[in-house]
Amino acid sequence: MTKTVVAITETTNTRSFNLRVFGCQMNSYDGELIRGAFSRAGYREELNPEAADVVLFHTCSVREHAEERVHSLLGALKRTKRERPHVVLGVVGCMADRESEELFEREPHVDLVCGSRHFPKLPKLVEKVISGEGRVLLVGDSDFAVDAPVRDLAGHPGGFSSQVAIMRGCDLNCSFCIVPSVRGRVESRPIKDILDECRRLVERGTTEISLLGQTIDSYGVDLSSSGSIPQLARLLDELAEVEGLRRIRLITLHPAYCNDELVEALARSPQFMRFLPIPLQSGSDSVLKRMKRGYTLDLYRKRIQKLREKMPDLELVSDWIVGFPGETERDFEASVDAMKEFGFLQSYVFQYSPRPGTPSTQLEDDVPAQEKGRRNRLLLDLQAEIARERTSSQVGKAGSLMLDLRPEKNPGYWRGKLQTGHSALLPDPDGLFRPGLQIPVQIQDWQGKELFVESVLSQKKVLEMQAKIPTAQVESSILDV
Ligand code: SF4
Repeated sequence: MTKTVVAITETTNTRSFNLRVFGCQMNSYDGELIRGAFSRAGYREELNPEAADVVLFHTCSVREHAEERVHSLLGALKRTKRERPHVVLGVVGCMADRESEELFEREPHVDLVCGSRHFPKLPKLVEKVISGEGRVLLVGDSDFAVDAPVRDLAGHPGGFSSQVAIMRGCDLNCSFCIVPSVRGRVESRPIKDILDECRRLVERGTTEISLLGQTIDSYGVDLSSSGSIPQLARLLDELAEVEGLRRIRLITLHPAYCNDELVEALARSPQFMRFLPIPLQSGSDSVLKRMKRGYTLDLYRKRIQKLREKMPDLELVSDWIVGFPGETERDFEASVDAMKEFGFLQSYVFQYSPRPGTPSTQLEDDVPAQEKGRRNRLLLDLQAEIARERTSSQVGKAGSLMLDLRPEKNPGYWRGKLQTGHSALLPDPDGLFRPGLQIPVQIQDWQGKELFVESVLSQKKVLEMQAKIPTAQVESSILDV
Protein backbone atom coordinates (compact mmCIF):
# COMPACT_ATOMS: atom_id res chain seq x y z
CA MET A 1 0.00 0.00 0.00
CA THR A 2 2.78 2.44 0.96
CA LYS A 3 4.58 1.68 -2.29
CA THR A 4 1.48 2.67 -4.31
CA VAL A 5 1.18 6.01 -2.55
CA VAL A 6 4.84 6.81 -3.25
CA ALA A 7 4.43 5.92 -6.93
CA ILE A 8 1.43 8.23 -7.32
CA THR A 9 3.19 11.07 -5.56
CA GLU A 10 6.23 10.70 -7.77
CA THR A 11 4.32 10.71 -11.00
CA THR A 12 1.70 13.31 -10.13
CA ASN A 13 2.10 16.38 -12.31
CA THR A 14 -0.46 19.14 -12.15
CA ARG A 15 0.83 20.89 -15.24
CA SER A 16 -1.61 21.41 -18.07
CA PHE A 17 -1.30 21.29 -21.85
CA ASN A 18 -3.31 22.86 -24.64
CA LEU A 19 -3.27 21.29 -28.11
CA ARG A 20 -4.64 22.71 -31.32
CA VAL A 21 -4.66 20.47 -34.38
CA PHE A 22 -4.67 21.62 -38.03
CA GLY A 23 -4.97 19.69 -41.27
CA CYS A 24 -5.87 16.17 -42.26
CA GLN A 25 -7.41 13.22 -40.44
CA MET A 26 -3.94 11.80 -39.83
CA ASN A 27 -3.15 14.94 -37.83
CA SER A 28 -6.35 14.63 -35.85
CA TYR A 29 -5.43 11.00 -35.09
CA ASP A 30 -1.93 12.08 -34.07
CA GLY A 31 -3.63 14.62 -31.79
CA GLU A 32 -5.22 11.66 -29.95
CA LEU A 33 -1.78 10.08 -29.56
CA ILE A 34 -0.30 13.35 -28.27
CA ARG A 35 -3.14 13.73 -25.76
CA GLY A 36 -2.53 10.15 -24.64
CA ALA A 37 1.21 10.80 -24.20
CA PHE A 38 0.61 13.89 -22.03
CA SER A 39 -2.11 12.22 -20.01
CA ARG A 40 0.27 9.29 -19.34
CA ALA A 41 2.87 11.80 -18.19
CA GLY A 42 0.40 13.20 -15.65
CA TYR A 43 -0.71 16.36 -17.47
CA ARG A 44 -4.31 17.50 -17.70
CA GLU A 45 -5.77 19.08 -20.83
CA GLU A 46 -6.57 22.80 -20.58
CA LEU A 47 -8.89 24.13 -23.26
CA ASN A 48 -7.84 27.75 -22.83
CA PRO A 49 -4.36 28.34 -24.32
CA GLU A 50 -3.96 31.49 -22.18
CA ALA A 51 -4.16 29.35 -19.03
CA ALA A 52 -2.11 26.29 -20.07
CA ASP A 53 1.49 25.53 -19.06
CA VAL A 54 2.30 23.92 -22.40
CA VAL A 55 0.76 25.21 -25.63
CA LEU A 56 1.22 23.10 -28.75
CA PHE A 57 0.19 23.47 -32.38
CA HIS A 58 0.05 20.28 -34.41
CA THR A 59 0.44 21.74 -37.87
CA CYS A 60 -0.17 21.19 -41.59
CA SER A 61 2.02 22.41 -44.45
CA VAL A 62 -0.16 21.37 -47.37
CA ARG A 63 -1.55 24.86 -47.79
CA GLU A 64 0.00 28.24 -47.13
CA HIS A 65 -3.15 29.47 -45.43
CA ALA A 66 -2.88 26.86 -42.63
CA GLU A 67 0.75 27.82 -41.95
CA GLU A 68 -0.04 31.54 -41.84
CA ARG A 69 -2.86 30.84 -39.40
CA VAL A 70 -0.40 29.11 -37.05
CA HIS A 71 2.05 32.04 -37.31
CA SER A 72 -0.76 34.43 -36.49
CA LEU A 73 -1.83 32.37 -33.44
CA LEU A 74 1.79 32.16 -32.32
CA GLY A 75 2.05 35.94 -32.61
CA ALA A 76 -1.02 36.34 -30.41
CA LEU A 77 0.69 34.27 -27.70
CA LYS A 78 3.66 36.65 -27.37
CA ARG A 79 1.91 38.52 -24.58
CA THR A 80 1.09 35.27 -22.74
CA LYS A 81 4.73 34.28 -22.94
CA ARG A 82 5.79 37.69 -21.57
CA GLU A 83 3.35 37.52 -18.69
CA ARG A 84 3.86 33.80 -17.96
CA PRO A 85 7.43 33.08 -19.06
CA HIS A 86 7.34 29.50 -17.74
CA VAL A 87 4.85 28.55 -20.49
CA VAL A 88 6.35 26.15 -23.06
CA LEU A 89 5.29 26.96 -26.60
CA GLY A 90 5.76 24.29 -29.26
CA VAL A 91 5.18 23.69 -32.97
CA VAL A 92 4.71 20.05 -33.97
CA GLY A 93 4.24 18.17 -37.25
CA CYS A 94 4.68 19.09 -40.91
CA MET A 95 5.40 22.79 -40.35
CA ALA A 96 8.08 21.89 -37.83
CA ASP A 97 9.74 19.64 -40.40
CA ARG A 98 9.42 22.13 -43.22
CA GLU A 99 10.46 25.33 -41.46
CA SER A 100 12.75 23.69 -38.90
CA GLU A 101 15.06 26.20 -37.15
CA GLU A 102 13.67 29.03 -39.29
CA LEU A 103 10.67 28.81 -36.98
CA PHE A 104 12.85 29.96 -34.07
CA GLU A 105 14.05 32.91 -36.17
CA ARG A 106 10.57 34.00 -37.16
CA GLU A 107 8.97 33.24 -33.76
CA PRO A 108 11.69 33.78 -31.12
CA HIS A 109 9.27 33.04 -28.28
CA VAL A 110 8.79 29.42 -29.46
CA ASP A 111 10.62 26.86 -27.26
CA LEU A 112 10.06 23.60 -29.07
CA VAL A 113 10.00 22.46 -32.71
CA CYS A 114 9.13 18.77 -33.09
CA GLY A 115 8.72 16.98 -36.43
CA SER A 116 6.10 14.45 -37.59
CA ARG A 117 8.19 11.41 -36.71
CA HIS A 118 9.06 12.48 -33.17
CA PHE A 119 5.85 13.61 -31.46
CA PRO A 120 5.49 10.54 -29.17
CA LYS A 121 8.50 11.99 -27.31
CA LEU A 122 6.80 15.35 -26.72
CA PRO A 123 6.39 15.14 -22.91
CA LYS A 124 10.12 14.35 -22.60
CA LEU A 125 11.04 17.21 -24.94
CA VAL A 126 8.91 19.58 -22.87
CA GLU A 127 10.75 18.40 -19.75
CA LYS A 128 14.03 19.26 -21.46
CA VAL A 129 12.84 22.80 -22.08
CA ILE A 130 11.60 23.13 -18.49
CA SER A 131 14.85 21.78 -17.07
CA GLY A 132 16.67 24.69 -18.68
CA GLU A 133 18.26 22.98 -21.68
CA GLY A 134 17.02 25.85 -23.81
CA ARG A 135 15.17 25.51 -27.07
CA VAL A 136 14.64 22.02 -28.41
CA LEU A 137 14.62 21.12 -32.11
CA LEU A 138 13.91 17.56 -33.26
CA VAL A 139 12.90 17.04 -36.90
CA GLY A 140 13.45 14.65 -39.83
CA ASP A 141 13.89 10.87 -39.61
CA SER A 142 13.68 9.05 -36.33
CA ASP A 143 15.09 5.72 -35.21
CA PHE A 144 11.75 4.45 -33.84
CA ALA A 145 8.31 3.76 -35.29
CA VAL A 146 5.82 6.57 -34.65
CA ASP A 147 3.08 4.08 -33.82
CA ALA A 148 3.73 1.97 -30.75
CA PRO A 149 2.99 -1.76 -31.11
CA VAL A 150 0.29 -1.31 -28.47
CA ARG A 151 -1.47 2.03 -28.68
CA ASP A 152 -2.29 3.68 -25.40
CA LEU A 153 -5.96 4.62 -25.72
CA ALA A 154 -5.77 7.31 -23.01
CA GLY A 155 -6.14 10.07 -25.63
CA HIS A 156 -9.09 8.40 -27.37
CA PRO A 157 -12.05 10.78 -27.33
CA GLY A 158 -14.62 8.01 -26.88
CA GLY A 159 -17.56 7.51 -29.21
CA PHE A 160 -18.40 4.82 -31.69
CA SER A 161 -16.14 6.01 -34.51
CA SER A 162 -12.37 5.59 -34.20
CA GLN A 163 -9.34 6.17 -36.34
CA VAL A 164 -6.41 3.82 -36.74
CA ALA A 165 -3.27 4.78 -38.67
CA ILE A 166 -2.03 1.71 -40.51
CA MET A 167 0.88 3.40 -42.27
CA ARG A 168 2.86 6.63 -42.39
CA GLY A 169 4.57 8.51 -45.20
CA CYS A 170 4.39 8.24 -48.98
CA ASP A 171 6.72 6.75 -51.62
CA LEU A 172 5.37 8.93 -54.44
CA ASN A 173 6.45 12.41 -55.38
CA CYS A 174 3.55 14.43 -56.68
CA SER A 175 5.13 17.68 -57.74
CA PHE A 176 2.76 19.91 -55.71
CA CYS A 177 2.97 17.95 -52.47
CA ILE A 178 5.06 18.58 -49.39
CA VAL A 179 4.14 15.29 -47.70
CA PRO A 180 6.99 13.04 -48.93
CA SER A 181 9.64 15.53 -47.84
CA VAL A 182 8.17 16.11 -44.38
CA ARG A 183 6.65 12.72 -43.59
CA GLY A 184 9.19 10.43 -45.28
CA ARG A 185 8.75 7.10 -47.01
CA VAL A 186 6.08 4.49 -46.38
CA GLU A 187 6.29 2.88 -42.96
CA SER A 188 3.57 0.25 -42.44
CA ARG A 189 2.49 -1.16 -39.12
CA PRO A 190 2.39 -4.95 -38.69
CA ILE A 191 -1.05 -6.46 -39.29
CA LYS A 192 -1.14 -8.06 -35.85
CA ASP A 193 -0.67 -4.67 -34.11
CA ILE A 194 -3.50 -3.16 -36.15
CA LEU A 195 -5.82 -6.09 -35.45
CA ASP A 196 -5.05 -5.90 -31.75
CA GLU A 197 -5.80 -2.16 -31.69
CA CYS A 198 -9.07 -2.61 -33.61
CA ARG A 199 -10.23 -5.37 -31.25
CA ARG A 200 -9.46 -3.22 -28.20
CA LEU A 201 -11.39 -0.33 -29.72
CA VAL A 202 -14.40 -2.55 -30.45
CA GLU A 203 -14.34 -3.74 -26.82
CA ARG A 204 -14.69 -0.07 -25.82
CA GLY A 205 -17.75 0.50 -27.99
CA THR A 206 -16.27 1.32 -31.41
CA THR A 207 -18.40 0.06 -34.28
CA GLU A 208 -16.78 2.08 -37.10
CA ILE A 209 -13.06 2.40 -37.82
CA SER A 210 -11.38 4.69 -40.33
CA LEU A 211 -8.10 3.19 -41.46
CA LEU A 212 -5.70 6.02 -42.24
CA GLY A 213 -2.71 6.36 -44.55
CA GLN A 214 -1.47 8.95 -47.05
CA THR A 215 -1.73 6.33 -49.81
CA ILE A 216 -3.48 3.58 -47.92
CA ASP A 217 -3.55 1.16 -50.84
CA SER A 218 0.26 1.08 -50.73
CA TYR A 219 0.00 -0.31 -47.21
CA GLY A 220 2.54 -3.09 -46.76
CA VAL A 221 4.88 -2.32 -49.68
CA ASP A 222 7.65 -2.18 -47.06
CA LEU A 223 6.57 -5.38 -45.27
CA SER A 224 7.79 -8.82 -46.30
CA SER A 225 5.03 -10.60 -48.17
CA SER A 226 4.19 -14.17 -49.10
CA GLY A 227 1.99 -14.54 -52.18
CA SER A 228 0.60 -11.87 -54.46
CA ILE A 229 -2.35 -10.61 -52.41
CA PRO A 230 -1.80 -6.97 -51.38
CA GLN A 231 -1.31 -6.46 -47.67
CA LEU A 232 -4.32 -4.15 -47.44
CA ALA A 233 -6.48 -6.94 -48.90
CA ARG A 234 -5.07 -9.32 -46.30
CA LEU A 235 -5.79 -6.83 -43.53
CA LEU A 236 -9.40 -6.38 -44.70
CA ASP A 237 -9.87 -10.16 -44.75
CA GLU A 238 -8.59 -10.41 -41.17
CA LEU A 239 -10.71 -7.50 -39.99
CA ALA A 240 -13.81 -9.28 -41.34
CA GLU A 241 -13.35 -11.67 -38.41
CA VAL A 242 -13.50 -8.93 -35.77
CA GLU A 243 -16.93 -9.38 -34.23
CA GLY A 244 -18.72 -6.13 -33.45
CA LEU A 245 -16.79 -4.09 -36.02
CA ARG A 246 -19.56 -3.01 -38.39
CA ARG A 247 -17.90 -0.51 -40.68
CA ILE A 248 -14.47 0.24 -42.15
CA ARG A 249 -13.62 3.44 -43.98
CA LEU A 250 -10.43 3.83 -46.00
CA ILE A 251 -8.67 7.20 -46.20
CA THR A 252 -7.10 7.80 -48.78
CA LEU A 253 -6.36 5.69 -51.88
CA HIS A 254 -4.00 6.48 -54.73
CA PRO A 255 -5.29 5.27 -58.12
CA ALA A 256 -1.93 3.74 -59.11
CA TYR A 257 -2.01 1.18 -56.27
CA CYS A 258 -5.67 0.19 -56.52
CA ASN A 259 -5.22 -3.12 -58.38
CA ASP A 260 -7.70 -5.93 -59.11
CA GLU A 261 -6.77 -8.00 -56.04
CA LEU A 262 -7.50 -5.07 -53.78
CA VAL A 263 -10.80 -4.36 -55.55
CA GLU A 264 -11.83 -8.01 -54.98
CA ALA A 265 -10.96 -7.68 -51.29
CA LEU A 266 -12.97 -4.46 -50.95
CA ALA A 267 -15.96 -6.12 -52.60
CA ARG A 268 -15.86 -9.18 -50.33
CA SER A 269 -15.37 -7.19 -47.12
CA PRO A 270 -18.65 -7.16 -45.18
CA GLN A 271 -17.57 -3.95 -43.41
CA PHE A 272 -16.02 -1.78 -46.15
CA MET A 273 -18.03 1.42 -46.44
CA ARG A 274 -18.94 1.93 -50.09
CA PHE A 275 -17.57 5.43 -50.04
CA LEU A 276 -14.07 5.79 -51.36
CA PRO A 277 -11.73 8.79 -51.46
CA ILE A 278 -9.63 8.23 -54.59
CA PRO A 279 -8.41 11.65 -55.77
CA LEU A 280 -8.14 12.30 -59.50
CA GLN A 281 -6.77 15.89 -59.15
CA SER A 282 -7.18 16.73 -62.86
CA GLY A 283 -8.92 15.32 -65.92
CA SER A 284 -6.08 16.35 -68.25
CA ASP A 285 -3.23 13.94 -68.97
CA SER A 286 -0.77 16.77 -69.58
CA VAL A 287 -1.58 18.32 -66.19
CA LEU A 288 -1.43 14.90 -64.48
CA LYS A 289 2.00 14.45 -66.03
CA ARG A 290 3.25 17.79 -64.70
CA MET A 291 1.75 16.90 -61.33
CA LYS A 292 3.74 13.61 -61.52
CA ARG A 293 0.66 11.73 -60.34
CA GLY A 294 1.78 8.43 -61.88
CA TYR A 295 -1.41 7.63 -63.85
CA THR A 296 -3.34 8.77 -66.88
CA LEU A 297 -7.05 9.51 -67.11
CA ASP A 298 -7.47 6.19 -68.87
CA LEU A 299 -5.82 4.22 -66.07
CA TYR A 300 -8.03 6.03 -63.56
CA ARG A 301 -11.06 5.15 -65.69
CA LYS A 302 -10.07 1.47 -65.69
CA ARG A 303 -9.72 1.48 -61.90
CA ILE A 304 -13.15 3.03 -61.45
CA GLN A 305 -14.75 0.67 -63.97
CA LYS A 306 -13.39 -2.31 -62.03
CA LEU A 307 -14.47 -0.87 -58.69
CA ARG A 308 -18.00 -0.18 -59.91
CA GLU A 309 -18.27 -3.51 -61.70
CA LYS A 310 -17.67 -5.24 -58.35
CA MET A 311 -19.54 -2.68 -56.20
CA PRO A 312 -22.29 -0.96 -58.21
CA ASP A 313 -23.38 1.02 -55.14
CA LEU A 314 -19.90 2.55 -54.61
CA GLU A 315 -19.71 6.32 -54.14
CA LEU A 316 -16.48 8.18 -54.90
CA VAL A 317 -14.75 11.22 -53.47
CA SER A 318 -12.08 13.23 -55.26
CA ASP A 319 -9.67 16.09 -54.64
CA TRP A 320 -9.02 18.55 -57.46
CA ILE A 321 -6.43 21.23 -58.06
CA VAL A 322 -7.44 24.04 -60.41
CA GLY A 323 -5.01 26.51 -61.90
CA PHE A 324 -2.00 24.17 -61.79
CA PRO A 325 0.92 25.65 -63.79
CA GLY A 326 0.15 25.48 -67.49
CA GLU A 327 -3.51 24.46 -67.02
CA THR A 328 -5.27 25.73 -70.14
CA GLU A 329 -9.00 26.22 -70.59
CA ARG A 330 -9.00 22.93 -72.47
CA ASP A 331 -7.25 21.16 -69.58
CA PHE A 332 -9.82 22.59 -67.21
CA GLU A 333 -12.67 21.43 -69.47
CA ALA A 334 -11.16 17.93 -69.24
CA SER A 335 -11.57 18.14 -65.44
CA VAL A 336 -15.18 19.25 -65.89
CA ASP A 337 -15.80 16.29 -68.21
CA ALA A 338 -14.12 13.87 -65.79
CA MET A 339 -16.19 15.12 -62.88
CA LYS A 340 -19.33 14.45 -64.91
CA GLU A 341 -18.10 11.09 -66.19
CA PHE A 342 -17.20 9.59 -62.79
CA GLY A 343 -20.09 11.15 -60.89
CA PHE A 344 -18.35 11.82 -57.58
CA LEU A 345 -20.52 12.21 -54.53
CA GLN A 346 -18.08 14.70 -52.99
CA SER A 347 -15.17 16.79 -54.20
CA TYR A 348 -12.62 18.98 -52.48
CA VAL A 349 -11.44 21.66 -54.89
CA PHE A 350 -8.26 23.65 -54.25
CA GLN A 351 -6.73 26.54 -56.12
CA TYR A 352 -3.08 25.84 -56.84
CA SER A 353 -0.54 27.75 -54.81
CA PRO A 354 3.16 26.86 -54.89
CA ARG A 355 4.50 25.38 -51.65
CA PRO A 356 8.15 26.07 -50.89
CA GLY A 357 10.14 22.84 -50.99
CA THR A 358 7.97 21.14 -53.62
CA PRO A 359 9.10 20.42 -57.23
CA SER A 360 6.21 22.36 -58.80
CA THR A 361 7.73 25.63 -57.57
CA GLN A 362 10.06 25.24 -60.59
CA LEU A 363 7.03 25.70 -62.85
CA GLU A 364 5.64 29.12 -63.62
CA ASP A 365 2.47 29.80 -61.60
CA ASP A 366 0.86 31.24 -64.72
CA VAL A 367 -2.90 30.96 -64.16
CA PRO A 368 -4.20 34.31 -62.82
CA ALA A 369 -5.79 34.24 -59.36
CA GLN A 370 -9.13 35.42 -60.71
CA GLU A 371 -9.20 32.59 -63.24
CA LYS A 372 -8.33 30.06 -60.53
CA GLY A 373 -11.27 31.38 -58.52
CA ARG A 374 -13.61 31.04 -61.51
CA ARG A 375 -12.54 27.45 -62.17
CA ASN A 376 -12.87 26.65 -58.47
CA ARG A 377 -16.45 27.94 -58.36
CA LEU A 378 -17.42 26.16 -61.57
CA LEU A 379 -16.23 22.80 -60.29
CA LEU A 380 -17.90 23.29 -56.91
CA ASP A 381 -21.21 24.22 -58.57
CA LEU A 382 -21.01 21.21 -60.85
CA GLN A 383 -20.18 18.95 -57.91
CA ALA A 384 -23.19 20.22 -55.95
CA GLU A 385 -25.44 19.44 -58.92
CA ILE A 386 -24.02 15.91 -59.32
CA ALA A 387 -24.33 15.24 -55.57
CA ARG A 388 -27.99 16.30 -55.63
CA GLU A 389 -28.72 13.90 -58.49
CA ARG A 390 -26.89 11.00 -56.87
CA THR A 391 -28.54 11.59 -53.52
CA SER A 392 -32.10 11.90 -54.81
CA SER A 393 -31.65 8.72 -56.85
CA GLN A 394 -31.15 6.76 -53.60
CA VAL A 395 -34.89 6.91 -52.84
CA GLY A 396 -36.48 3.45 -53.04
CA LYS A 397 -33.22 1.60 -52.31
CA ALA A 398 -32.35 -0.51 -49.29
CA GLY A 399 -29.38 0.44 -47.16
CA SER A 400 -27.87 0.31 -43.73
CA LEU A 401 -27.64 3.38 -41.55
CA MET A 402 -25.12 3.97 -38.77
CA LEU A 403 -26.55 6.36 -36.20
CA ASP A 404 -24.43 9.37 -35.39
CA LEU A 405 -26.37 12.08 -33.51
CA ARG A 406 -29.78 13.56 -32.77
CA PRO A 407 -30.04 16.78 -34.76
CA GLU A 408 -31.53 19.70 -32.91
CA LYS A 409 -33.31 20.84 -36.06
CA ASN A 410 -35.11 17.49 -36.47
CA PRO A 411 -36.46 16.49 -33.04
CA GLY A 412 -37.48 12.83 -32.87
CA TYR A 413 -34.90 11.77 -35.45
CA TRP A 414 -31.39 10.39 -35.58
CA ARG A 415 -28.97 11.45 -38.26
CA GLY A 416 -26.56 8.87 -39.57
CA LYS A 417 -24.58 7.79 -42.59
CA LEU A 418 -25.70 5.15 -45.03
CA GLN A 419 -23.04 2.65 -46.03
CA THR A 420 -22.69 4.62 -49.28
CA GLY A 421 -21.75 7.80 -47.37
CA HIS A 422 -25.08 9.58 -47.82
CA SER A 423 -26.42 11.37 -44.77
CA ALA A 424 -29.97 10.32 -43.75
CA LEU A 425 -32.57 10.78 -41.00
CA LEU A 426 -34.30 7.94 -39.13
CA PRO A 427 -37.31 8.46 -36.82
CA ASP A 428 -36.85 7.51 -33.16
CA PRO A 429 -39.73 9.37 -31.47
CA ASP A 430 -39.10 7.67 -28.12
CA GLY A 431 -35.36 8.45 -28.08
CA LEU A 432 -34.38 4.83 -27.47
CA PHE A 433 -31.45 4.42 -29.85
CA ARG A 434 -27.75 5.15 -29.40
CA PRO A 435 -24.91 6.27 -31.65
CA GLY A 436 -22.91 3.56 -33.39
CA LEU A 437 -25.93 1.36 -33.98
CA GLN A 438 -26.18 0.11 -37.57
CA ILE A 439 -29.72 -0.52 -38.75
CA PRO A 440 -31.01 -2.01 -42.03
CA VAL A 441 -33.27 0.61 -43.61
CA GLN A 442 -35.39 1.44 -46.60
CA ILE A 443 -34.77 4.87 -48.16
CA GLN A 444 -38.18 6.58 -48.32
CA ASP A 445 -37.84 10.19 -49.31
CA TRP A 446 -35.57 13.05 -50.23
CA GLN A 447 -36.64 16.54 -49.23
CA GLY A 448 -34.10 18.72 -50.98
CA LYS A 449 -31.41 18.40 -48.34
CA GLU A 450 -31.96 15.20 -46.39
CA LEU A 451 -32.79 11.58 -47.15
CA PHE A 452 -35.42 10.06 -44.87
CA VAL A 453 -35.28 6.35 -44.06
CA GLU A 454 -37.34 3.78 -42.13
CA SER A 455 -35.98 0.81 -40.23
CA VAL A 456 -36.90 -2.54 -41.77
CA LEU A 457 -36.60 -4.18 -38.33
CA SER A 458 -39.01 -3.93 -35.43
CA GLN A 459 -38.04 -1.60 -32.60
CA LYS A 460 -37.64 -4.64 -30.33
CA LYS A 461 -35.11 -6.20 -32.70
CA VAL A 462 -33.17 -2.94 -32.99
CA LEU A 463 -33.00 -2.61 -29.21
CA GLU A 464 -31.72 -6.18 -28.97
CA MET A 465 -28.94 -5.32 -31.43
CA GLN A 466 -28.16 -2.20 -29.44
CA ALA A 467 -27.85 -4.14 -26.19
CA LYS A 468 -24.88 -6.04 -27.65
CA ILE A 469 -22.77 -2.89 -28.12
CA PRO A 470 -20.52 -1.93 -25.18
CA THR A 471 -21.75 1.28 -23.58
CA ALA A 472 -18.54 3.36 -23.72
CA GLN A 473 -19.76 4.99 -26.90
CA VAL A 474 -22.71 6.78 -25.28
CA GLU A 475 -20.54 9.77 -24.54
CA SER A 476 -20.60 10.79 -28.23
CA SER A 477 -24.36 11.24 -28.27
CA ILE A 478 -24.14 14.96 -28.77
CA LEU A 479 -26.57 17.30 -30.44
CA ASP A 480 -25.47 19.32 -33.41
CA VAL A 481 -26.36 23.00 -33.44
S1 SF4 B 1 0.32 10.49 -53.27
FE1 SF4 B 1 1.04 12.47 -53.95
S2 SF4 B 1 -0.44 13.94 -53.03
FE2 SF4 B 1 -0.64 12.00 -51.89
S3 SF4 B 1 0.76 12.19 -50.15
FE3 SF4 B 1 1.91 11.14 -51.78
S4 SF4 B 1 2.98 12.78 -52.85
FE4 SF4 B 1 1.35 13.76 -51.64
